[in-house]
Amino acid sequence: MSEAGLTYEAKASLALEQLGLGVAREHLDTACQQAAAGNWSYWHFLGYLLEGELQERHRKTVALNMQFARFPYLKRLEDFQFDAQPGLDRRLIEELATGRFLHEGRNIVFLGPPGVGKTHLAIALGVITAEMGHRVYFVTALEMARRLSKALAENTLHREMNNLTRPKLLVIDEVGYLKLEPAQASLLFQVICARYERNGAIILTSNKAFGEWGEVFGGDAVMASAALDRLLHRATVVNIRGESYRLKEKRQATGILVEAVAGNGTAPKKATVKKRGVTDSMPAVNGVP
Ligand code: ADP
Ligand code: MG
Repeated sequence: MSEAGLTYEAKASLALEQLGLGVAREHLDTACQQAAAGNWSYWHFLGYLLEGELQERHRKTVALNMQFARFPYLKRLEDFQFDAQPGLDRRLIEELATGRFLHEGRNIVFLGPPGVGKTHLAIALGVITAEMGHRVYFVTALEMARRLSKALAENTLHREMNNLTRPKLLVIDEVGYLKLEPAQASLLFQVICARYERNGAIILTSNKAFGEWGEVFGGDAVMASAALDRLLHRATVVNIRGESYRLKEKRQATGILVEAVAGNGTAPKKATVKKRGVTDSMPAVNGVP
């Protein structure tokens, strides 16, 4: 029988398949039964069927975005303890988590010493971006510079640059941990310029104050200043001055250990947890401005 001779019932299924609406096709039978049993309106039925398709598409997009991002590990904003970093403006981070910066092409710069959560926050905002359905790419400054240098040598710089400029968000982690060679610094500069011209947001983390960026850029203060000019033109700078989370955890753990040993060495688990809670709420920690 030709397609034209098919009943509309048979055509529905075939058409969904041909239109690439595989999930709707899969759910068609059940949805029809539910619609009949529940006396659904035609609108309700159609909305229900298409919603399933859209949800599945979004799930696939997010999974692909997460794969593409190459996050070194997964960190979420919900896992970030704001109490441990009292100097940090929680409302600012929550505003950033709305993703508005992505559409404004606004950059975010996290500055601060090691262990204060710069990479954690950068990844968390990257995950939010991926979940909103956008492409994001995570890379450390050194890895990026190395890859670009290699691409330059192999005549594939254009392609590599595209990979770094096309995603909605580029996360450049650890700028300044190691001094870049002048050629590498120039490549980092080119990435910043290319994204600036396309209004593409960058999240950048660094342990170096802006005044030290000449050094970061292979000793070229002029290039550093031109890079900062573009980077900070539309940017939110978040200075995290608090204590290293790792060291704080270590210190607290050591405190608990000392406490346990000072007792009879067999402190019950409950007591350990309680001690931790007390330490956490010490005014000296929370009272830091
Ligand atoms: P930085 O990039 O500033 O050196 P990281 O983001 O790598 O620091 O943080 C070091 C470790 O401590 C990570 O495992 C991170 O998840 C954790 N961490 C840092 N700050 C916090 C925080 N406020 N709440 C929860 N975990 C944190
Ligand atoms: Mg880091």
